[in-house]
Amino acid sequence: MQTYIKDLSQHVEQTVVLNGWVSNKRTSGKVAFLVLRDGSGFAQCVVDLATAGEENLERAKRLTLESAIKIHGKVLRDEKQEGGFEIQVTDLHIYSIAEEYPLGKKEHGVDFLMNNRHLWLRTKRQWAIMKVRNSALFAIHRFFQSRGFMQMDSPILTGNACEGTTTLFDTIFYKDDLPAYLSQSGQLYAEATAMAMGKVYTFGPTFRAERSLTPRHLSEFWMIEPEMAFYDLEMNMNLIEEFVRTVVTDVYTECKDELVNILERKTALFDNIHQPFPRIEYDRAVRIIRGEEEVDGKNAIKELEADLEGVRQVIADKQQSLADYEQKLQTPNLKKGEVNYFQSKIDGLKNDLKKLEDDARNIPQWLESARNFPPGEDFGAPDEKALTRLFDLPVFVYKWPSPIKAFYMKRYEDDDNYVKGVDLLAPEGFGEIVGGSQREDDIEKLIERIKEHELPMEAFEWYLDLRRYGSVPHAGFGLGFERLVMWLTGVSHIRETIPFPRYFGRLFP
Ligand code: ATP
Ligand code: MN
Repeated sequence: MQTYIKDLSQHVEQTVVLNGWVSNKRTSGKVAFLVLRDGSGFAQCVVDLATAGEENLERAKRLTLESAIKIHGKVLRDEKQEGGFEIQVTDLHIYSIAEEYPLGKKEHGVDFLMNNRHLWLRTKRQWAIMKVRNSALFAIHRFFQSRGFMQMDSPILTGNACEGTTTLFDTIFYKDDLPAYLSQSGQLYAEATAMAMGKVYTFGPTFRAERSLTPRHLSEFWMIEPEMAFYDLEMNMNLIEEFVRTVVTDVYTECKDELVNILERKTALFDNIHQPFPRIEYDRAVRIIRGEEEVDGKNAIKELEADLEGVRQVIADKQQSLADYEQKLQTPNLKKGEVNYFQSKIDGLKNDLKKLEDDARNIPQWLESARNFPPGEDFGAPDEKALTRLFDLPVFVYKWPSPIKAFYMKRYEDDDNYVKGVDLLAPEGFGEIVGGSQREDDIEKLIERIKEHELPMEAFEWYLDLRRYGSVPHAGFGLGFERLVMWLTGVSHIRETIPFPRYFGRLFP
């Protein structure tokens, strides 16, 4: 019977059968070391002449990267090994010998990796990200299911745009004269199902024809959209906070090893997540971003300036080390090991410097953007950075100016200029992960908004019915699933958070 690597701890000192692929191989004379991966984990397998015999050792030596094999072997505890175990192989069967693997051990550019996404997914880092993604998905369902929410799918093909048409994907549906769009949000439908089921959530694909290439926008992504009858803005924020905290905590519990050891995620997030999330009104957030108001004695602009100074210092230090190693590399009669060591140091430093120099170029632009932020506008990435930089926690920004928010958001009773909308911004530069609001439940006001936004009234008749027949205060939010995975894993580009990303210019594989 096949055992999975993740379960090895239950089989110490026993003989197990593992199926998998060779993700690394080293041989020396009478022994071969294989790193086997089976989808559930990675494990070192030792094929030595004395235990495995000559035929098995010969087979092991023939193995190429990504060849598929079955092994029988004894599980030994070995703290030095990855995962804490080593397999002493007694028998080795080959399913197939792989051709020369395109994703060998050397460094590859992003384009090459993206063109080989179907293979790239096998590497340890991508595997770890996908494991976190899966864990988050299950935690999300668990959270809502255990709190009496019903999962309700909303349609993917729709006849009208939910909030304007700038990023709509259109398609032709059945007849030429009937345009259909790919859903940008399931929210309006979630409102309908909430009026039927009380508390619901959708978890489905969402499409936005974003033409800009940013590290946090995909054309196709997954969104979780809870909608609750009899909820106001504050209850909504409370739910968002409990939801995010629970999912982050659950994922950390389940994937600590992947997060900390493989992805090298900074753990501040997981340590801080238990504290209450700050809640800031939009107007105050603007003053903070512009450096006109401080938070606990910290000024957003000054912090960014200090960051820039810090980055410049680190660049200077690294350039010095780089020069030192380049000098050392010129020493006559170096051993091969020394050359390799110096060269790898140099490559590493050059890599670091590239990132740091990007920062040194970017931070002045962020500073410029934050200092001159025009009140009344939506936040851009730099503004979100300037703000969240002051907190080591996700930050709520609520009470947004009406003109920049969607037609369905409820306005404050005492001030028409603001809506009961809320965004949750993740720290460490990740930015917006949740957008939500209390919805307009007064039919007259809603009709007025639809007219103001020049939306086709006929298309919204069914939506208005929700206000005609038993209208209630209600609220909900949308969480971008890949944004969440990005933040959890700490990866700097959203394309690594979904198995086969779709964004402007990327449709294959
Ligand atoms: P942003 O301001 O970051 O472009 P948005 O305001 O357009 O996002 P919403 O319409 O509020 O986003 O959508 C809800 C959530 O969906 C966002 O908080 C974000 O997590 C996610 N999201 C939005 N657009 C994208 C995208 N193109 N790719 C991935 N996730 C997205
Ligand atoms: Mn938004």
